[in-house]
Amino acid sequence: MHAEVISIGTEILMGEIVDTNSGYLASELAKIGVEVRWVTKVGDDPERLFEAIDRAWSRSDVTITSGGLGPTSDDLTRESIARAMGEKMEVQDDLLAHLESQFAGRGFPMPATNVKQATLIESADAIPNPLGTAPGWWVHKNDRVIAAMPGPPRELYGMWASQVGPMIRSMNPDVAIVTRTLKTFGITEGGLDEMLSPLFRSVNPTLGIYSKEDGIHLRAIATARSAKEAHDLIQPMESEIRQIVGQAVWGVDDETAATMAIGALKTSGSTLGVIEGFTGGLFASTLTDAAGSAEVFRGSLVASDGQIPGSPDIDPDERAASSSPEPETAVTMAEAARDLFKTEVGVGITGLVTQPSRASGAVDSAHMAFAIGRSVTTRSGSYPARRMRIKARAVTHALLELTRALNGT
Ligand code: ATP
Ligand code: MG
Repeated sequence: MHAEVISIGTEILMGEIVDTNSGYLASELAKIGVEVRWVTKVGDDPERLFEAIDRAWSRSDVTITSGGLGPTSDDLTRESIARAMGEKMEVQDDLLAHLESQFAGRGFPMPATNVKQATLIESADAIPNPLGTAPGWWVHKNDRVIAAMPGPPRELYGMWASQVGPMIRSMNPDVAIVTRTLKTFGITEGGLDEMLSPLFRSVNPTLGIYSKEDGIHLRAIATARSAKEAHDLIQPMESEIRQIVGQAVWGVDDETAATMAIGALKTSGSTLGVIEGFTGGLFASTLTDAAGSAEVFRGSLVASDGQIPGSPDIDPDERAASSSPEPETAVTMAEAARDLFKTEVGVGITGLVTQPSRASGAVDSAHMAFAIGRSVTTRSGSYPARRMRIKARAVTHALLELTRALNGT
């Protein structure tokens, strides 16, 4: 089964808003074994929208549209689908009553323009939208499908997860699909691509490579008659990847650098205090995004190198003279964090970030230290990227090194 995604809206075409919906849908479709062959962006123009839908209908088993289901005259998705199907839009009494009651509930009379949100064509069923007013359309004809979904990402994600995704999945009931994501850090995308190049030619499972904030993800997707068979297809590929890239694989599937660190802290029965410099609180923020952090995390202080409580004052002239912070600074921070927050484990992160943007080449570095009981280890990292990404990379790196230091690996 193969699919096409159409993102609708002039503001998408003009770059006013970034089309995140099509990326989400493409990734979700892959997870349920549907191959995405085209992603189209089209503005709110009746002719071109009709053309995009008509062409998708002629070449794709599944077409998913995002946007243009609102009440205004430039929301044209329904009209264009009706035209491509050669069917007439008709107001549905039950949908209209529901829409009117939604407006009444908010204390407004319903504007006449909203009536079109209560229409269907003969081949379409309404897809309820508990997060907005516009129901979606599920068009099913000649074994092909169009799912029309609202543009606001929250509504689209909700409708996908609760309805459209499961309905498309059920069109392929005899196929079991298993996905496995291996998360890596420390090897570039190009490097991994080269190391694993024969595996990327595999057909079942397929292997995809994705650059993410927390490193490079490798995602294998296998299809088979049963989940067990699909697992058995993935297993040898996973072993081979682990053999080739070794320690660079730090987690799988839903694991994050933060959940790994929290897990390692819990296992070792330790609490954590942090002093961070250029990451500006991002380490604490990332950690506290993950469930369970409250049990192990006692606090983080954001302080520049010269402002670490309990450390000897650093002469400002001396600081200016040294072009980059030293690993010893991170050690001082880690030990001070452990003492300040009275924890078993202290982490210190410091680094140098040149700003603002650089044309190319320059590399910024971070030093991190992990004070665990009386012993301290240090690590350094270099991240060729822009400021925000460097902070995020350094935080991921620090969380992963903390996990390793606690696990003794
Ligand atoms: P509404 O009833 O809210 O108008 P709609 O289905 O007509 O819903 P659009 O008008 O196309 O949707 O988009 C509404 C908003 O949703 C946009 O202003 C934008 O913020 C967001 N949005 C739309 N399409 C996308 C997309 N492809 N990716 C990310 N956000 C989107
Ligand atoms: Mg709209």
